[in-house]
Amino acid sequence: MKKKYVLFSILICSILLLSSSSFAQQRQAAPIKLEKLSDNLYQILGGRGANGGFYIGDNGVLVIDTKQTKESVDLTLEEIQKITDKPIKYIVNTHSDGDHVTGNQFFPKTVTIVAQKNCRKEFFHPRSNGEPSAWEKPELAPFLPSITFSDKLDIYLGSKKIELYYFGVGHTTGDIVVYFPEEKTAFIGDQIFMGRPQLIHSYKGGNSFAHVKTLTKMLDTLEAEKFCIGHSDPIDRTTVKHHIEEMTQLQEKIKTQIDQGKNLEEIQKAFEANHLRLVESIFNEIKNDKM
Ligand SMILES: [Zn+2]
Repeated sequence: MKKKYVLFSILICSILLLSSSSFAQQRQAAPIKLEKLSDNLYQILGGRGANGGFYIGDNGVLVIDTKQTKESVDLTLEEIQKITDKPIKYIVNTHSDGDHVTGNQFFPKTVTIVAQKNCRKEFFHPRSNGEPSAWEKPELAPFLPSITFSDKLDIYLGSKKIELYYFGVGHTTGDIVVYFPEEKTAFIGDQIFMGRPQLIHSYKGGNSFAHVKTLTKMLDTLEAEKFCIGHSDPIDRTTVKHHIEEMTQLQEKIKTQIDQGKNLEEIQKAFEANHLRLVESIFNEIKNDKM
């Protein structure tokens, strides 16, 4: 009887341990990992939040996007310090989404934060569920972008030049391209998603038709060969072109169905669940003549 009881207890304990450890694994973010693109340029992967990057100039470091939690930022800083002891001088935010900018507040206050002017405005935009933005809190003001620009800004770290470009509205109203000419590499944030439909934040003023024009302008302007994106591995020019074509085809398909007199519900029936949001954005853009 006693033996049976012990065995039963061991069984229960094992089940509890197993389930709690798998629960912990689900909650734990992947470790921060650096991916070397050149002697000076790295991608920052893992952690909580989007992929970012950093660039080592002659006299300092520029970081692209800042993840979402203090833990992820601390681990990022640790990893950067393993590669260089130069100080972090700049953060560049590619756009205003939380998974790219929340970590700003966990960097030292001495770092200068740079973004496109619409992006800074969007920091204060109410969330998609209507809640006020956390950036309204006065104590976060030092971690808002303090330098903004309209179309282009060059940042020099000694002899090294980093080019920031704004090609127009798309995923949001303030997405930029951080371009490294020597590496022919562009960090474009969430302007392209792979393996899932493109996110267009209509509630912030994002627009899929403008998105197509913006990406086309990027390809026409830059000789970039590699594009680092927020949520997948880097892509090449052909993949960017393919993304533009796919978006255009989707827009045409929806337009044809609107011309046939179909309403949103009828059009959405032909799409899988993960496409419904994008289809709705495109539908509303066409209906409201925002093409
Ligand atoms: Zn993102």
